[in-house]
Amino acid sequence: MRGVKLCGVLLDLDGTLLDHEAAVGAALLRWLPTIGVEPDAGTRTLWATVQERHLEAWRAGLVTFQQQRRGRLRDFLAALGTPCEDDGRLDTLFSGFLLMYEQSWAAYPDARPALAAIRRAGLRTAVLTNGIEEQQTAKLARIGLRDLAGPVYTAETLGLFKPDPAVFTEACRRWGLAPETVVSVGDRHDLDVLPARAAGLHAVHLDRPGTAPPGEAHRIGSLRDLPALLLPH
Ligand SMILES: [Mg+2]
Repeated sequence: MRGVKLCGVLLDLDGTLLDHEAAVGAALLRWLPTIGVEPDAGTRTLWATVQERHLEAWRAGLVTFQQQRRGRLRDFLAALGTPCEDDGRLDTLFSGFLLMYEQSWAAYPDARPALAAIRRAGLRTAVLTNGIEEQQTAKLARIGLRDLAGPVYTAETLGLFKPDPAVFTEACRRWGLAPETVVSVGDRHDLDVLPARAAGLHAVHLDRPGTAPPGEAHRIGSLRDLPALLLPH
C-alpha cells in the first residue's frame, strides 16, 4: 500500500482483535454438558451454523439481537431433538452460555503489539463492529485493549450493519476522517474488505487460517504483518 496517505486504521473486533471462535469453543465445552448435550465436533459445528444464520438475519435487520439469540438456541435444540419454544426458558439457557463465553474472551496475542505500533507511527485507530454497544465495549475492556483501540463504532449505535458500505461511510464521518485516508482491517472478506472498498476506504484482509480464495492483493495472516504493510519503510 505504498504511496497511500493514511490517517486511520479501522479494525473489526470479533475474529480480528478478539478470538471469538476460541471463546465460543471454550464456552461450548463447558456449557453444553450443563444442558445435557455432548460437546463433540458435530454439536459445535451445528452451533456455528445456526449462529451464523441468525446473526445474518440480525445484520439484515429482520430480528432484534435478543430474537437472534433465542432463534439460535431454538434451532440448535430442535436439531438435537430437544425442542424448546418457551422464550423465558431460552433466555435462561442462553445466559448460561453467555456467562461462559464472556469468561473466555481473550485478545489475539498479535492485537496489542499491532495497535501500539500503528499508534506509535502516528496513525489513529478505531473499531467498527457488527455488534451491540454494551457487549462490544465490554469485550474491549475485558481483553485490555480499551485504552489502545480508540473510538468504538457499533452497528447498534450507527443503525447500519456490515456489509452495507454506508456503515463505513458513517463511521468515517463520525471519526472525522476522509474515507480515502482510512484502511479497514478485518477477518471477513465479505464484511470488512469488499464493502469498505465500495465506500472508498482502503482494506486489508486478515486471513488468519490462510484459507481465503486467491485474488486478494492486500492480505495478511497475522496483525503482526499489518504495520509493515501500512507504514512507510
Ligand atoms: Mg470479524
